Amino acid sequence: MSVYKNLGIRPVINAFATLTRLGGSLMPVEVTEAMLEASKNFLELDELQKRVGDRLAVLTRNEAAYVSSGAAAGLTLAAAACVTGTDPAAIAQIPNLTGLKNEVIIHRTHRNGYDHAVRQVGVKVVEIGFTIETARWELEQAISPQTAAIFWFQGVMTGIGDLPLHTVIEVAKDHGVPVIVDCAAQLPPVENLWRFTQMGADLAIFSGGKDLRGPQSSGLVLGRRDLIEACAVNASPNHSIGRPMKVGKEEMVGLLTAVELYLNMDHEARKQNCEDIVAAWTHRLKQIPGLTARRDFPNEAGQPLPWCLLTVDPQLLGISRDQIIDRLMAGNPAVAVAPANHDGIHLNPMTLEPGEDQIVIDRLIAVLHQAA
Ligand SMILES: *Cc1c(COP(=O)(O)O)cnc(C)c1O
Repeated sequence: MSVYKNLGIRPVINAFATLTRLGGSLMPVEVTEAMLEASKNFLELDELQKRVGDRLAVLTRNEAAYVSSGAAAGLTLAAAACVTGTDPAAIAQIPNLTGLKNEVIIHRTHRNGYDHAVRQVGVKVVEIGFTIETARWELEQAISPQTAAIFWFQGVMTGIGDLPLHTVIEVAKDHGVPVIVDCAAQLPPVENLWRFTQMGADLAIFSGGKDLRGPQSSGLVLGRRDLIEACAVNASPNHSIGRPMKVGKEEMVGLLTAVELYLNMDHEARKQNCEDIVAAWTHRLKQIPGLTARRDFPNEAGQPLPWCLLTVDPQLLGISRDQIIDRLMAGNPAVAVAPANHDGIHLNPMTLEPGEDQIVIDRLIAVLHQAA
């Protein structure tokens, strides 16, 4: 790994999740080879985006598709598309929304760091509901002639008291307002690539650099053709809000290749492999006094894959939960694991390369031995 060595960067074994700050995920060699090939020619970028989008639409059973520079950029483009359509004057005017639709509706429980990507278009967030419940009338009352879209954040943000998504879609359709679903980390299951849009969502947005294992700086916007076209005119290479979110030819081709691989992958075998790793970890770790270990499900962003939950007794182990995490990260090789609750650690097999599950457990046991 001389590129990283030359920079004094220590590679990390990722037993945490498809976290952006750890590098997202690792591209299969087929993806990097496709990107290398794509890097060798000039072409018309708009035309490539269209062809790749047509292919992605067929593969994901959607009307249309667009490659963005990430799911967050997809949120920005989707918000812009709902405000401006393909009107060049409106596109030039953003983020000044005078005379344009300037509101989006979001469940209060869904508010999260990624809604900044929506707000940067200049829209005002109209919040509905609270933790315990959200009433249908609240959504109906929140919709006005100023409403550009309803944004739905799928995953850990989705709360028990939220309106069901199908109800949101039903109300939105009654009022002619688009529903945009952020499902950035909602893979697996692979069916989610078409599930939300088949339910009636107007756009569904995924990260290319999480479980799809495409380029880290890529995202997938799927859904209604007119909105996808409006995303494209709001995006690079056009002078627009999306111009700083440029997608290169390499990313477009890389993401297409990653989606092809993902659809052809044996997802059952992958799940079984995760089960086997978690079973082996649990078996070995629960024999250590001061540590409890069990299978937990689903994992970090609610994906239907198992992970291993450890509970740490600092008295018996002579080391705290946070010290364990820090020493794993400071060790050689560095291992990233996920804090859980106040005294727990999650070990995630989802992002490991073959054989790394053994390194993770060996490093963990070494850290515990040092402390004892
Ligand atoms: C990761 C994530 C994003 C951002 O995705 P990028 O591809 O990194 O831009 C947005 N929303 C949610 C819910 C996410 O988990």
